[in-house]
Amino acid sequence: MGKKSRRNNRQTGGEKNDAASATASTTATASAIAIASATAANTASSGTNQCHHGSTADKFHPNHEYMKDAKEFVCMRHQVNLLNNQDSSKDQQEKAIQMKYFDDHRHLIEDLEFCQFIFAFCTKQYLESNNLKVRHQRQLIQALLFLGLTCRYNTASQEFDKYVRDIGTDRGIIKVLVRETATHCDCMNEGKGIAKKMDKVGKCHGCKKEFPKKTLSFCNGCQYMKYHNRECQTNHWHIHKIDCKKLGSEAKV
Ligand SMILES: [Zn+2]
Ligand SMILES: [Zn+2]
Ligand SMILES: [Zn+2]
Repeated sequence: MGKKSRRNNRQTGGEKNDAASATASTTATASAIAIASATAANTASSGTNQCHHGSTADKFHPNHEYMKDAKEFVCMRHQVNLLNNQDSSKDQQEKAIQMKYFDDHRHLIEDLEFCQFIFAFCTKQYLESNNLKVRHQRQLIQALLFLGLTCRYNTASQEFDKYVRDIGTDRGIIKVLVRETATHCDCMNEGKGIAKKMDKVGKCHGCKKEFPKKTLSFCNGCQYMKYHNRECQTNHWHIHKIDCKKLGSEAKV
């Protein structure tokens, strides 16, 4: 159902993805997935009756294809995060690296079970993360949710853009997990309550810090980028001017 046409747009989905790339130090992220798969293996072999949030235990095994592909994605994001932020060709490079992953994993991107596995894996991580306070788990979840959203939604849709923006904040991450597991189990119910109490926050594209959403203002040119003050906007302009126009016209489509 419209899935074919989605795919054509899928590869360009990464360009607005500051949410998944923004959070810094990813050395932790790369090693986190190794830890995560080890944990999952223990859980799988110990046979405890645990919810798999719409997926199945075998997929959490470190040798399972899904687990390996998730790991490759995290490594790819790690590579992207190592790119120099000040380099004006960063976006191009990021796009190329990301496109290669999606080209190599086309079969999985179209696999609904893989998609659910990603959300299930993230849910499992969330439930062990002390409400996202464990930093490496938060980074891992944030990176993988981008993959999950890419699999599940038309990357050219407004929906997709909104959800990708959501995963830039704690509240948004929880919201995505709640939505994507709701038809399978109620493991995210407690998180749902926690998220409701959180302030609606958004990220300043200049300093990358979080602020109450209502205090952020949009760039006049594109109505996409948000800044917490004038200074942040001015300082970010030398990077943003390259894609301001493009983001603006995309938003209107
Ligand atoms: Zn569950
Ligand atoms: Zn700022
Ligand atoms: Zn702009």
